[in-house]
Amino acid sequence: MDLLGVLLPRRCAVCATPGEELCQDCSEGFRRLRAPLCSRCDAPTVWPVARCRECSGRRLAFASARGAIAYDRAAAQFVRSWKERGLRRLAHLAAAIVAEALPRPEGVLTFVPADPGRARERGHHPAGRLAAELAVLWELPVEHLLRRSRRVRPQRGLPVADRRKNVAGAFVAADPCPRTVIVVDDVYTTGSTAAAAASALRRGGARSVHVVTLARAVRGHGLHSR
Ligand SMILES: [Zn+2]
Ligand SMILES: [Zn+2]
Repeated sequence: MDLLGVLLPRRCAVCATPGEELCQDCSEGFRRLRAPLCSRCDAPTVWPVARCRECSGRRLAFASARGAIAYDRAAAQFVRSWKERGLRRLAHLAAAIVAEALPRPEGVLTFVPADPGRARERGHHPAGRLAAELAVLWELPVEHLLRRSRRVRPQRGLPVADRRKNVAGAFVAADPCPRTVIVVDDVYTTGSTAAAAASALRRGGARSVHVVTLARAVRGHGLHSR
């Protein structure tokens, strides 16, 4: 049973208006990521490209990353409420937004595992919940393929090079991994966490790894959470 959901009055995760967990205005107000986008990392670009300024020259172990909405102020507030309140309904809404925005992929779903300490503090894990909900919507298997091999410092506020070092080798994958794996996470900021997870999956034998997130940071919005 979703105890918090029973005890707390229902209100919008973004604007806190009493009523639905996500009001219609806020749901429609999320900024969808629209073409042209970088075909590798999904950054908005002026025209379609295979590599963009953000990802060219970086060794990213994933073949593609796709996000449904821009990680702007409203999306950040939604993710924050989702983490704090842990409502299953918010995971369901997040999955619906993703499934509406992105084509159904092929492969086995997995998710970026929570940091052990922080998962205990929160008592739940949005990426895992999102993967489980997407598995239902997309009718794909979901497997727990990744675990953390060590604790990492929070990525918040770290420059890209430090983020990469901070999470390098932080994940271990099941061996053997399925051939095609889709890693689910709540937010894509610089791709460092997704790349570290994808590296582990590749070491475990995955041939192709794709990343799917609810939100993706877009340059110029100045929001960084991981
Ligand atoms: Zn609202
Ligand atoms: Zn790119």
